[in-house]
Amino acid sequence: MAPRHWTLWRQRPRVVVYCLLTEAAAVALTLRPHPVAVDRRTLLILATLLLLGILQSETGRRVERIRRRVSGTPHINMTSVWTFAGVLLLPPPLLALLVAGLYSHLALRSWYRLQRVPASRTASNAAIILLSCYAAQAVVPDIRTALTHGWAGTFALAAAGVTFFVVNAVLVLPARHEIGRTPEALFGTWADNGLEVATLCLGALNALALATLPGLVLLVLPPLLLLHRTVLVKQLEVAAHRDEKTGLYNTSGWHALAERTLAATARQRSTFGLLMLDLDHFKQVNDTYGHLAGDAVLRAVAQAIISAVRGRGDAVGRFGGEEFVVLLPGISEPDIGAVAERIRRAVSALTVPVGQLTISGQSVSIGSAVYPRAGTSLQRLLDAADTALYHAKATGRNKVVHVADLK
Ligand code: GH3
Ligand code: MG
Ligand code: MG
Repeated sequence: MAPRHWTLWRQRPRVVVYCLLTEAAAVALTLRPHPVAVDRRTLLILATLLLLGILQSETGRRVERIRRRVSGTPHINMTSVWTFAGVLLLPPPLLALLVAGLYSHLALRSWYRLQRVPASRTASNAAIILLSCYAAQAVVPDIRTALTHGWAGTFALAAAGVTFFVVNAVLVLPARHEIGRTPEALFGTWADNGLEVATLCLGALNALALATLPGLVLLVLPPLLLLHRTVLVKQLEVAAHRDEKTGLYNTSGWHALAERTLAATARQRSTFGLLMLDLDHFKQVNDTYGHLAGDAVLRAVAQAIISAVRGRGDAVGRFGGEEFVVLLPGISEPDIGAVAERIRRAVSALTVPVGQLTISGQSVSIGSAVYPRAGTSLQRLLDAADTALYHAKATGRNKVVHVADLK
């Protein structure tokens, strides 16, 4: 593709500048003068790491394809197993070859085919990993030297691992399109980080095997493939409880959570509230702007509801269509109206950009009920909130009705 058509130029200027800078830094550090003694053994290590890395990603493709189908989350990157071993065993130019080889293979075989990741992304990912590798190399001599230094060598290896992890976590931030505000949005979930730590551990063992009894490197493969599968299992678990369109809880996920809340509330003799929401005249949005625009509005409404509640344990679900439910643990009669009103106003204030136009002027009707006054079983409470919602619809829409105020 001609350079002027590159996807890179469609990114924000900040991202473009940052990607080009990291790539330039990676190239400059690779080409820096370095007393390299490339012997046959080192080349053999490079070939082994490359081959095993490619073998692993080929065998993991099936898992990746299933993961891709159940959720849109990015490809799990387990290359640290090979790149971190490279940090401990290879001089900079060969390390650069290893990273380039592994990332090109991933880009061609997995990322592009499964997710249409553009080449510019791959290049900047590879540059960032290479910079993390060089940072880690700066704090550790090489594994053979470390092996002769007892505990000092052990700590040096650990320090290299920590450096790789931290530098990588920091360097990826400015390359993102959106920079998150919460720790999780910035640095990923505990599970993501746990996976990265596990791959680094395997990378160190990998290097140890290659430096002593190279055949043992094969022992790394089975745990690695198993590790990849555990990620899939976790993801299937989450997917089973999520609504794909909005990321909210789906009916069964929300029900399971609500039943648990109900049981806990009953034990503690506390209270909790339920809101049932239905968008007003939503069919008109679909009829006027089309189904895809309708979906965009649904996603925006989901976000608006989440931002309007956000309390500890509050859970927002989508009951299919344009109906939502909110579980509000610990809330009592006087407070639930204020929360519902906040949601109603947030939905009214929404402006949703869809292509060239902006959709606004949505409204929502809300019915609310509080345990135990409105019922002591989940079904009773849902029925009560539904009755209140029906009244809100019947008496003009765009309003909140509390079931205790009826009659
Ligand atoms: P009311 O104020 O009485 O609730 O009017 P309404 O038009 O919102 O109610 P109705 O239940 O008649 O229509 C709901 C519409 O929601 C019908 C369907 O076109 C739309 N809808 C349901 N699920 C989806 C979805 O996943 N995506 C989109 N875009 N539209 C959906
Ligand atoms: Mg509706
Ligand atoms: Mg409806």
